[in-house]
Amino acid sequence: MKNLVRILVGGAVLSGSALMLVPQDAQGYSLIGGSLGIAQRDHRLYNTFTASGANNNTTEDPNLPGYVGADLAIWKAGAEWGARPFGDGSGDPTQANLGDGGANFNFFWNGEASGIGGTNDNIHSPISGSSGGVLAYTETPISDGWRIRYYQSWSWQDGPGNVFSGIDLQGVACHELGHALGLGHSSVGGATMYPTISGTGTAQRSIATDDANGCKAIYGSLNSAMPQIDSLTGSLVPGGTVTINGSGFSSNMKVWLDSDIVDSGATGGQPFKIENLVGQNGGTQLTFTLPQTGWVTGSIHVKDATHNSHWALSEGHPFDAGGGGGGNTDTISLTASSFNPPVGSTITFFIGQGPVNGTYILYYSFTNTGTTINGHPFDIGPPDGQVGSGTLDATGAASFSRRVPNGAAGRTAYMEVYAEDSLANVFDSNMITISVP
Ligand SMILES: [Zn+2]
Repeated sequence: MKNLVRILVGGAVLSGSALMLVPQDAQGYSLIGGSLGIAQRDHRLYNTFTASGANNNTTEDPNLPGYVGADLAIWKAGAEWGARPFGDGSGDPTQANLGDGGANFNFFWNGEASGIGGTNDNIHSPISGSSGGVLAYTETPISDGWRIRYYQSWSWQDGPGNVFSGIDLQGVACHELGHALGLGHSSVGGATMYPTISGTGTAQRSIATDDANGCKAIYGSLNSAMPQIDSLTGSLVPGGTVTINGSGFSSNMKVWLDSDIVDSGATGGQPFKIENLVGQNGGTQLTFTLPQTGWVTGSIHVKDATHNSHWALSEGHPFDAGGGGGGNTDTISLTASSFNPPVGSTITFFIGQGPVNGTYILYYSFTNTGTTINGHPFDIGPPDGQVGSGTLDATGAASFSRRVPNGAAGRTAYMEVYAEDSLANVFDSNMITISVP
């Protein structure tokens, strides 16, 4: 069954004065009926846009690594509906935060497809020609999935900044994805699900309170049991050991990574899954070994395998293969010759994968509550002091030794590397824990 819902180009409907006539707390959303199950959270793009502006952004965003052009625009459109901020919430210059859904719902971006797929394969794609003022439409068999088509005749723009001419792909995709997840049109002016746009549609990128309320009406308000990803530590390379720091990690968890399998377009969209993982440290950590192949840079989600409720799939978090967990965070490796060194012994610290010829400081803290240094997030608490500092070599590495002081007896310290490159970009390492007997 097809249930076509379209977005139209508006005329003078959305004038400023008209907007002010609508109370901000008016409930205007409507529901198609039904919801997407956990297995239907994926979305992909068959990227055959012909407009010159649809794929002219060639700069990756650190918070959404691995994709550019129309791919990045549509990924962000889905991330905005997420339950929590995607990564640190940055990544879109036109809105303060990416991830404003607040419901038990998260889309899973899985890259490109190689065909338009069927009406329930969850693939975005252009369609030739035009249909009056219609920009795009969504075919929504709802619980089995959906398909979104964008009329090729429009001057689609991929951003990523504000779009001043043509039509903003991200804004329109955000609207159509609202249909895909089960929303009809809203009567609230300024809502992403309002049926028409004025201007380019950039404003539709950021969902309104009414849109979020509609999403909550379908999937429920965010359940605190939803697994949450705060940061990644470890080595994000094939064969590396990665630790996810967050909450809600039970004894039977899965990790979902982008697989980006370009197939016939009719099937696929499945994430690359790493299964049978057990939460540690009170459900705040999940550690896994990164397989050699089958996954690509993009995003990581955590799934509670013992539940199939809407809340069982976490929000997305950047997963930058070969680097760290988004932006410049945790890109440096730090380890030590011993994690339980006796007083008076010598401990050696090894730093790797830092900025070439950069400078570093190894901080220690007696708390691991997280802090910000020079505007950059760290896993350790506010530093209590420095273990050492110096210059990294031409491979971005350094090592040095220290005698474990007498005063360290019986104490636990958390350590993390701060580093800067020649352009004063800040990087940090994984956190290590040193417990002195
Ligand atoms: Zn619509």
